[in-house]
Amino acid sequence: MTQTQTTPLSSSSTPVAPAVSRSTFDQVIVPTYSPSNVVPVRARGLDLWDQDGRQFLDFTAGIAVTSLGHCHPEVVQALKQQADNLWHVGNGYTNEPVLKLASALVDATFADRAFFCNSGAEANEAALKLARKFASENGPANKSRIVSCVNAFHGRTLFTVSVGGTPKYTEGFSPLPADITHIAFNDIEAARAAIGDDVCAVMVEPVQGEGGVMPASREYLKALRELCDKHGALLIFDEVQCGMGRTGQLFAYMGYGVTPDILTLAKALGNGYPIGAMLTTEKIAAALKVGTHGTTYGGNPLAASVGLAVLGIINVPGFLQRVRQASDYLMSSLRGLAVEFPHVIQEVRGSGLLIGVVLTPAYKGRAKEVTKAAEEQGLMVLIAGMDVVRVVPALIVTDEQINEATARLRRALGKFVNA
Ligand SMILES: *Cc1c(COP(=O)(O)O)cnc(C)c1O
Repeated sequence: MTQTQTTPLSSSSTPVAPAVSRSTFDQVIVPTYSPSNVVPVRARGLDLWDQDGRQFLDFTAGIAVTSLGHCHPEVVQALKQQADNLWHVGNGYTNEPVLKLASALVDATFADRAFFCNSGAEANEAALKLARKFASENGPANKSRIVSCVNAFHGRTLFTVSVGGTPKYTEGFSPLPADITHIAFNDIEAARAAIGDDVCAVMVEPVQGEGGVMPASREYLKALRELCDKHGALLIFDEVQCGMGRTGQLFAYMGYGVTPDILTLAKALGNGYPIGAMLTTEKIAAALKVGTHGTTYGGNPLAASVGLAVLGIINVPGFLQRVRQASDYLMSSLRGLAVEFPHVIQEVRGSGLLIGVVLTPAYKGRAKEVTKAAEEQGLMVLIAGMDVVRVVPALIVTDEQINEATARLRRALGKFVNA
């Protein structure tokens, strides 16, 4: 309201907080999302309850975020303890949690340096800006081209959405950042044709998440590594979704045996507390001198404390071993459903606990309807594009929970095909 208030405010002396429901969303939220009618209010592990007290089994992990389950006790404890000590200091000071988290990430990966931010898009934005800066400092001139993949998803800032491979997401936002080339994913010949000496970086998800749960082939990532080395381009792996144990390795690149120059992560690093990170080598990091990039909350003590607790739990051989075991069991359970519903399910694919159930041509474009049917049976799952149902449980999922989810999905598919 820009005008001066001239009439007295309502005289009601005890304002009552209004009850909120799904319909409130349409009245007060910018309509970028179309959320379910279910409004969650409480959750523990993989169990979630809505406003009416209905229980759901959460096989979305808040879109690959709450990988340790909701309200994991050790993570809650880390946050509460930090909340009583130090919330924020600003980048004029460093803090103990961020130094510990950076040290742990550097110890656990190829990287020597970490940059912290608040989301996956920001981690990728930092990576892309670093690649341009590194090229501008190390030459030759005009080495500004960025190569990325069709169907890739890298976030929603203008730069990251332009590098992403979904034209629909950039419609109406022109002019877009320039010098970006999109190539077909997993196509080595297309990469060879596109990557030349004018390329400063190649950005790729080792497992495409939003784009349909599509793992890269080992040969493809190896070829990208060789092409980047040959042409002096930086190889950026976006592991915002597939990192932090999701594939059964701490980071997917470790399973592929292909090391990037820059690695981005976010989502599961905070288990729901917003944090993102960009990891790189000392040599490359040096291009981002004092004052060249930054963000107020990056490396905030609260976020860093949570990230440190999460990393400490996930980066344990036994934990990752169990993720691979749970993956085998969930994949085979879903493949069992594919045998029961061959006219609906074409294929089950993915890596670790990032799994896509691909619908047949007969059910093309109907993945959202399957997730709705599953929700009616008390199971939350996601879509990845219009034709793939994405199954992404917390990494702590038990065999019993996999059995229950499979039973609920079986009932949902039964109703869906008979509807
Ligand atoms: C979710 C995602 C992003 C964007 O992360 P935000 O935290 O939503 O900005 C980027 N890349 C990949 C691969 C993602 O899955």
